[in-house]
Amino acid sequence: MKSNAGGCVVWVTGLSGAGKTTLAENACRYFKDHSKRVEHLDGDRIRKTFPTGFSHEERDEHILRVGRMASGLEREGILVFASFISPYQMARDKVRQMCSRFIEVYVNTPLEECERRDDKGLYKKARLGEIKNFTGISDPYEPPVKPDVVISTVGCSPQESCDQLINSLLRIFELRKN
Ligand code: ADP
Repeated sequence: MKSNAGGCVVWVTGLSGAGKTTLAENACRYFKDHSKRVEHLDGDRIRKTFPTGFSHEERDEHILRVGRMASGLEREGILVFASFISPYQMARDKVRQMCSRFIEVYVNTPLEECERRDDKGLYKKARLGEIKNFTGISDPYEPPVKPDVVISTVGCSPQESCDQLINSLLRIFELRKN
């Protein structure tokens, strides 16, 4: 019989530049180093494999596709980190329903801070109207209604925020006896 012991989907949502990739990568490394089977599905990379648009419908379709992938990996006993803007609550909720163990992590970095960082120069382009449907500027972001974990990154180093995430996950795993 197949066991999904250890499998879990950690869904990391937030604005572009919030710190999703940074946090997920670090948490992946930590759990890998602690002998967990880990996979990281990241928005930018997955979009290269499955290019799609940015309309509400296309975004939802994309998130559900990634959700199915994550839930399949979870069934194989893998701890999956999925870092996606995933701006719509309903799509995130649908993914939650697909998974046995699902943890919604909200990287709660305000728009002003994401825009100040603007590592990829995308906010600048969005403000100039060169990018349409840009979350936070010309497209909505629905913050999680009831996130399992909220991570703040303002006034914290990446390492501090990563520690915050890892400690929260360890507490949840302990509570759920993973
Ligand atoms: P996202 O995946 O949400 O688009 P990234 O992780 O690619 O965001 O980029 C976040 C940027 O913010 C990185 O340059 C990171 O170093 C920086 N940053 C500053 N403080 C923090 C923090 N406390 N936690 C995470 N990232 C932070």
